[in-house]
Amino acid sequence: MGRTMPFTMIQHCHFSLFNSYTTSTTTALMLPRRLGRVWSRLLSYPRHLPGNIMERLEKRNGIDITKLVDVKRKLELVGINCDDSCIPGRYIHLLCPKCQGGQSMERSLSLHIVQDGDFAMWRCFRVDCGWAGRVFAGSNSVRKVISSRKIMEQSLGLEPLGEQLIAYFGERMISEETLRRNSVMQIYVDQAVIAFTYRHNGVLVGCKYRTIDKKFRQEKGTVKWLYGLDDINEASEVIIVEGEIDKLSVEEAGFQNCVSVPCGAPQKVSDKELPPREKDTGFQYFWNCKEYLDKVSRIILATDGDTPGRALAEELARRLGKDRCWRVRWPKKDEFCSFKDANEVLKHLGPGALKEVIENAELYQLHVSLHGSH
Ligand SMILES: [Zn+2]
Repeated sequence: MGRTMPFTMIQHCHFSLFNSYTTSTTTALMLPRRLGRVWSRLLSYPRHLPGNIMERLEKRNGIDITKLVDVKRKLELVGINCDDSCIPGRYIHLLCPKCQGGQSMERSLSLHIVQDGDFAMWRCFRVDCGWAGRVFAGSNSVRKVISSRKIMEQSLGLEPLGEQLIAYFGERMISEETLRRNSVMQIYVDQAVIAFTYRHNGVLVGCKYRTIDKKFRQEKGTVKWLYGLDDINEASEVIIVEGEIDKLSVEEAGFQNCVSVPCGAPQKVSDKELPPREKDTGFQYFWNCKEYLDKVSRIILATDGDTPGRALAEELARRLGKDRCWRVRWPKKDEFCSFKDANEVLKHLGPGALKEVIENAELYQLHVSLHGSH
């Protein structure tokens, strides 16, 4: 009993232990004496801690304590002090140590420690700061800190769209003006590759690349957002589509209040209950943008008409609340099939027809009862 007690104690209070740890730089010396031994054992795992106990701890919380301690210590070294709200798997907002949140002293630093404690990443969302970086558990030096890494157009090698890609978009009825307004760019690696720039308050926060033959790649280490997020800042009505080109297409039909999901559609609707935010892996972009969507009273789901597109509409509606969701009905192509997405309608029927499709969206639940969701 005497031997197992300390571990039981840790199970119940390890978060507060970390907090007392991270707010002091002298670590174990500041801890109450009775915790000191436990603490030093914990820090030196796996040498002294029986593996099965650690496994139990990890299973219970999905958190590797040794890594978490290490990550929090490294965050402190770069000036980020985690407060009580620093729980792995969540996004929290702190005062940025570089700009102190500017004049309004807003908590502009978004910090995320990944669920398993492997690494933490942060970004300051003030336009004139943009301080960002990552620290990793397990590396001995802080040299791995990518400090002040603003993703800059220059550092990613982004350049203005060239004639070839402008022509490619032209065939899809996307105008140069729309491309410019959405800051669509390119990189050149053997061939010109489209770079859809993801922005948040005007700051570049991510980038998705797409070759002409439809291969995709996402800039690594960036937080996932909806594409076009700044366009729904003040909107009470929002259109959600399944790809960046569909977002540009909807704009050609006269609607700027449109966002695209960043990573396509799931194969089918999950038959499980909605997972909690931190475990909702395929929909982190949704949770990251939730405060924007919470303000919206009407959401038109204009995802693709195929099975994955309908599954995406259903998954989004589950998270948004079905009462405020509407669903477009893609027009018939011929007797047997319908157009699949916004760009197909734009290309074949023109901007007026696409506008009509959006204006004639049906109440989601009614649409599902008439046509099925998946
Ligand atoms: Zn800042």
